[in-house]
Formats: sequence, C-alpha cells, structure tokens
Amino acid sequence: MRYKLVAGNWKMHGSLAENQALLEAIVPATRDLARVDVAVCVPFPYLQQVRDLLAGTHVMWGAQDASRHAKGAFTGEVSADMIAEFGARYVIVGHSERRTYHQESDALVGAKCQAVLGAGLTPIVCVGETLEERERGATEEVVARQLEAVVDAVGAAGLSRCVLAYEPVWAIGTGKTAAPEQAQEVHAFLRRRVAERDSAVAEGLTILYGGSVKGASARALFSMPDIDGGLIGGASLVSEEFVAICKAA
Ligand code: PGA
Repeated sequence: MRYKLVAGNWKMHGSLAENQALLEAIVPATRDLARVDVAVCVPFPYLQQVRDLLAGTHVMWGAQDASRHAKGAFTGEVSADMIAEFGARYVIVGHSERRTYHQESDALVGAKCQAVLGAGLTPIVCVGETLEERERGATEEVVARQLEAVVDAVGAAGLSRCVLAYEPVWAIGTGKTAAPEQAQEVHAFLRRRVAERDSAVAEGLTILYGGSVKGASARALFSMPDIDGGLIGGASLVSEEFVAICKAA
C-alpha cells in the first residue's frame, strides 16, 4: 500500500568514517517520525557496514543498481540475491545516471526490476525527462515510455511491489528543483497511466520526487497529493538536510 518514504541516494560518495558519522546523526534524529519510512541506498562495498550500523533501527538500507542476471560469468556485476543477503530492502533501478553513463535501455531497466523483485527486494524505479525533452513538450511521452517498459517486464502485479521515482534529469544535482505543481502534474500523469492498467495498483503506488530536494523545498513538494516522498541525492549526505527532509514528509 501507498506509504511515505524518504530514501537517500548516496551515489559514489562516502567512506567508512563518513558513513558512520552520517548514520549516527540520522538514526536518532528520525527515530520518532512515525509517518515516514527512511532509507539509505549506498555503494555496494558499504552494505555490510550499514547493515551493522542500522540493523535493529527504523532506518532501512539498499543499493543503487543490480544486475539483470542471477549469477554467472559477468565480471563486475552484483546480483540482487547478493544484495538481499546483506539485509537490504531497496534497490534503485534505472537512475538517469545509469541510463546516461551506462547506456541502460528501457528494456534493461525492466529486466533489472524483474531481477530485484525476484530477490524479494523493492525496486525504486526512476523515470524522468531531460531538459531538451521537456522543452519540446515530450515529458509525458518519455516518462510513459519508461514506465511502460517496466510494466511490460513485471506486470501490474509486479509494479505494485515497486516504488516509482519521478526524477527530471534537469533537476538532478543542478540546484533546480521542479516547482511543486510541475512535479505534481507528472506524478498525477504517472498514476493515471498506471490506473489504465489497474486502478488499485495506481492508488497504492508510492511515487517519490527526486531532483535537488533540500530541507527548505521538501515540505511544499511533499504536500502535493501525488508526491509520496523523495529520492534524495546531495542533501542525503548532510545529516541536518536529510533529517529536515524526513521531517517534512
Ligand atoms: P540530487 O539527486 O538530490 O542531488 O539532485 C537526486 C538523485 O539523483 O537521486
């Protein structure tokens, strides 16, 4: 069912010492927030560390990618089952940085979702348009195509076990947050598209916004009816910012 979630995406940041300091600040400061789930998605080598630090707390953890394959001769790949062994709950799938720098296609993103669901984990599936696509009025077409590929791979039933994240590429790491109404419009569109397949799945789907969310901008975004929380990059590395965002949800 639909719930509030704030998930940090650490990207390729951190060190053993920095991670520990960050989590030791975040855990006590978000403990009493009953209405929102809190998670951090970390680089693979830190999964054991975050498990050690977070097990038994309310903060969940996850990874930022997974292989579409279950096992085999795929040097450098990490399977969803391996991630699950570290007690993770989430895996980010189809982040725009993976789509852009690693040429991940819509079909590959769909296959990865399937692999993550198969391991009993929750994919946080990212969709979003570039600035060029927005300017030529192609936002809905792009996010619909990206969403369709996932639904084709996992079905409406599979989608009901995913979290969706709308992340306009032009807002990621740029300091340009989408206006709350602008984000709401796309969130509502995504929910309507899902409803065309299955209205109960659409109603129950958690849809996060991501792209330069800060403590100061979070409350207005999260007050929109179809925005259920955030996927937070840069601000998830600063404990005061991340905690402020969690409190706004
Ligand atoms: P940002 O990143 O908050 O730094 O813009 C969000 C993301 O890429 O998930």
